[in-house]
Amino acid sequence: MAEQRAQKGIRERRPISSSPVPRPSSHFRGLTLVELVIVCGIIAVLAGIIWVVMAPAREKARLVTCISNLKQIGLAYQMYRHDWDGIDPEEGRKLQWWELGLPKGGAFQLFGLGYIKDERILFCPNWRRDPFFNTPGPRLTKSYRTMYGPDEEALPEGRKFSEIIAAMPDFPLEICVLHDPMYFVVPRLAEKVLGVTVLGEVKWYEYSRIKRHWLK
Ligand SMILES: [Zn+2]
Repeated sequence: MAEQRAQKGIRERRPISSSPVPRPSSHFRGLTLVELVIVCGIIAVLAGIIWVVMAPAREKARLVTCISNLKQIGLAYQMYRHDWDGIDPEEGRKLQWWELGLPKGGAFQLFGLGYIKDERILFCPNWRRDPFFNTPGPRLTKSYRTMYGPDEEALPEGRKFSEIIAAMPDFPLEICVLHDPMYFVVPRLAEKVLGVTVLGEVKWYEYSRIKRHWLK
């Protein structure tokens, strides 16, 4: 008897389990517009926090790439200078760029001659992020700026490269201005720039210190 009832119970229950699931609207009425706006607002705030927290980390990663690029460019300069028997710079000694064994055309020429194999190291990863450079026009051959010039007649203030290198033996050959924290706030007013020296060392420079030696 009990068994029969149990069987009946099962039989009675079966149609319930196979019946359509109760509509969620009966329990869950959905979000009102105000609630939806609040949820979107919370998501936006969280996304903003993640963005703010992650941005310095991403900039740091790009900075590491830029330093790596400049180190490789410095190494290429070293190889070229070695091949051309370049003299090391020395304070008080006025050396011409060719005595230092520097290529006439800077890092881009090093790429053309095969001392730099990968063209990408001629571009700072921040360069493509800079709207100033993303204006239409001829494609740049590199983002780093060469700080010495074979054409000494064209130098501002009558400065000769040989005088600059005698006064500042660690004068950078190539610089990147795209990493100063101020740069993205007030573009073109970077206070610190990354540069690679004649001896291939990558270091920070006070922009004001080298700006007066600006060559090209
Ligand atoms: Zn850079």
